[in-house]
Amino acid sequence: MSNPPPDEIRLTGLAVSPGIALGRASIRGHKFIVPVERKIGESEVDAEWQRFEIALDATHEHLEKLRVRIAKRAGKLEANIFEAHLLILRDVTVMDETKRLITEDLINVDSAYFSVMRRYIDGMSEIKDQYLQERIVDMQDVLERVLRNLRKESDVEAEETGTFVLVAHDLTPSDTAAMDRDKVLGFVTEAGSVTSHSSIMARSLGIPAVTGLHDISRRLRSGQRVLVDGYKGLLFINPSGETLKEYEGIQEQKNAIASGLEELREDKAKTASGRRIILSANIEFASEVNLVRKYGAEGVGLYRTEFLYLSGKTLPGEEEQFNNYKKILDGLGGEEMIIRTLDVGGDKLTGDEEHAGEMNPYLGWRGIRLSLEQPHMFRQQIRAILRCSAHGKLGVMFPLISSGDEIKRARDLVDSCKSELDSEGIPFDGNIPIGAMIEVPSAALIADQLAGLVDFFSVGTNDLIQYTIAVDRGNDRVAKLYQPTHPAILRLLKNVTDAAHEHDIWAGICGEMAGDIVLTPLLVGLGVDELSVIANQIPRVKQAILRLDDNKCRELVEELLTMSEAERIFTRCREVAIEHYPELLV
Ligand code: PEP
Ligand code: MG
Repeated sequence: MSNPPPDEIRLTGLAVSPGIALGRASIRGHKFIVPVERKIGESEVDAEWQRFEIALDATHEHLEKLRVRIAKRAGKLEANIFEAHLLILRDVTVMDETKRLITEDLINVDSAYFSVMRRYIDGMSEIKDQYLQERIVDMQDVLERVLRNLRKESDVEAEETGTFVLVAHDLTPSDTAAMDRDKVLGFVTEAGSVTSHSSIMARSLGIPAVTGLHDISRRLRSGQRVLVDGYKGLLFINPSGETLKEYEGIQEQKNAIASGLEELREDKAKTASGRRIILSANIEFASEVNLVRKYGAEGVGLYRTEFLYLSGKTLPGEEEQFNNYKKILDGLGGEEMIIRTLDVGGDKLTGDEEHAGEMNPYLGWRGIRLSLEQPHMFRQQIRAILRCSAHGKLGVMFPLISSGDEIKRARDLVDSCKSELDSEGIPFDGNIPIGAMIEVPSAALIADQLAGLVDFFSVGTNDLIQYTIAVDRGNDRVAKLYQPTHPAILRLLKNVTDAAHEHDIWAGICGEMAGDIVLTPLLVGLGVDELSVIANQIPRVKQAILRLDDNKCRELVEELLTMSEAERIFTRCREVAIEHYPELLV
């Protein structure tokens, strides 16, 4: 008698990258194997050191291969992340300390290297700084690679054959960047959030992904069949025949809808009542420019330039930035690109320890605050943007604006860069549009005062929601409280769009909220002029806009503003969405 099929297990996590993946699970053993400390004899010292050098060389060779592969596939800047790894790998202090432990304390090399790296990682972990936390991930990555090579295990991506769904506790940005799109059907992780680097990269690589599935690597075995629903954030272990059938149907529907939507590619987004809404794309990497064209976006509404920063301690210089911006602009075929100036937190740009260990990095030294205090770096970025503005339609906007004073100071710096370029005879667009990101409640509340200082507003709802409701956007323990339809968010959005229009400037939304078609009726009713979303969300949002009537959406907003519960507001939006584009909401 054959065994009955194993029971299906359905788990709910966080949907971070849309799509459906069906395949065998491959568990990436990120559960760290701590090397056992062993005393060695003096006669073993040379052999241990040699083993270390061989492992370092093997790791170097592997990282170098990854760097070349990613550079070819995604671009040079994306590949820079591996240069940071190579620097960590060859760090002289780490090598010297490891050598001392082997030669003087007579400790085996695995354990010696582990304890040196661990000391640095632990020291850095105590400092609550976003930049340092990301560097810790890099250090951990290098440590694991070297230890694997010391144990003579091959790296995961080299040993995998065939296709698989990657399951891991967490994935480093380098893991995600190194993923082979043809082999990794999807990924699921225990840790991570919608805004973590790996999730952002998964979206740009088009890999379906679900995070926040606690304990998943314990509940699953490699080789088990899984189905990843990156739309709803679901994972099915041993999906039943019924589930598979249901998803076959969903996939067919999605494919049919996607090919139907392809016809809209050249159409402009216009409501059923004829109002134009600019539909542009959010990008993190220059390589995404192809997707912007492919999905029919009207240019780039948000270029997150901090991804240029992934590779090291500072932004690349003016020239490299100029080349990067120009490459994207050239790829846009005459469409506009809005560059957001650097939005990182932490203090690593100067190595100034005074600012290390911020208690609340989200409330600390990030965005425009940091740029204004780093005028040398800020000027390089503004000069690169201005120079590029001579070659096409370019806008610039500042992140984390919390007062008018910050806008004025940023504008002064732009003016001073303009004069400098003028005196150098370098061309630029003297009327380059300058915008403020509205993502801090104080800015949203004084939008009427800020509107006179800029050419446009772009609302960063990802941050606006976290600051308004006081809920960390990356913390899955409070994810339930993170509600885009909270009545307070509605009021702030209304305040911002109304203030913009009273002052004859445009207002757009570039947070994740803009790509959620359940909320399109709300955003259309608020009168937004632009929506900037992940490129592959463009067709759906465009279809939603085409079906919606402005008057009805305005009435809806009036009704929603009287409601006091986020869930009711969401449900009401969903009803309207289903009424107008039911096929998109399967
Ligand atoms: C936002 O906060 O909504 C936004 C678009 O910026 P980021 O997600 O990069 O903080
Ligand atoms: Mg933001």
